[in-house]
Amino acid sequence: MNVIELKDIGKTFTDRDEPTKALENVNLTIASGEFIAIIGPSGSGKTTLMNLLGLLDSPSSGQYLLDGEVVSSFKDRQLAKLRRHKIGFVFQSFNLLTRLSVVGNVELPLVYAGVGSKQRRQRAIELLGLVGLADHANFRPNQISGGQTQRVAIARALANHPSLILADEPTGNLDTKASNAIIEELRRLNRETGATIVVVTHNPEIADQTDRTVTVRDGHIVSDEANRHQSDHGQANTADPHRPARRPSLDMTAGPSRSAK
Ligand code: ADP
Ligand code: MG
Repeated sequence: MNVIELKDIGKTFTDRDEPTKALENVNLTIASGEFIAIIGPSGSGKTTLMNLLGLLDSPSSGQYLLDGEVVSSFKDRQLAKLRRHKIGFVFQSFNLLTRLSVVGNVELPLVYAGVGSKQRRQRAIELLGLVGLADHANFRPNQISGGQTQRVAIARALANHPSLILADEPTGNLDTKASNAIIEELRRLNRETGATIVVVTHNPEIADQTDRTVTVRDGHIVSDEANRHQSDHGQANTADPHRPARRPSLDMTAGPSRSAK
């Protein structure tokens, strides 16, 4: 089953003097349960692409199917509902709120979803446990490290049991050790919850740890390749190791099994 199908997507921003073509002729298919990296130079269109995937913005042309539904024609209210229920964001622009505790931040999506306070707290503590931060629940965001902040952001993204997790440069300001910890965290979640994960990074070593790397340049997808090292993570790699790395976009065999739980 394909979670995401982008068909000939274009995005042109017209809010500046000169229109900016941020994406052009983008075709991308992501199967359920895949863990995929998007790389590319600064300004190449990665964040624009993530905003489209996350229904935070709409394409100028082309079609977006999310779980088989043509969402590119949906109205704002329908999009907001889908976002709340299906998608977890780990975006740099969605920073933790400093006036709330760590656990309060993780609870936020549940507040919007109308979950009662007691249940909310319980779920948030459980999520913090999942990312190894249960003992930091009552800290303030300014009392934890950058790596811990990203782990809190991951916990918050998981609050509504999203089937799709979008992370835009979640390791952006982190050192190698903290970056690896974040990617391992995402990998584990991918394996344990079966969630589809798309992570933007400028670091090829980080991208290597995912199943598949899509490279964006000047608004185009210029390469789309399966990564070789999935077995390092104990993941059954159904791909033949001698098989060429490039795979057609509809090939679903390289996606991790959903039954790993
Ligand atoms: P990346 O995340 O790969 O660094 P972006 O997706 O942020 O790249 O940007 C792609 C291109 O679109 C850049 O040229 C950027 O300046 C432009 N862009 C992004 N957002 C807007 C916007 N809201 N208005 C006008 N241009 C934009
Ligand atoms: Mg960006």
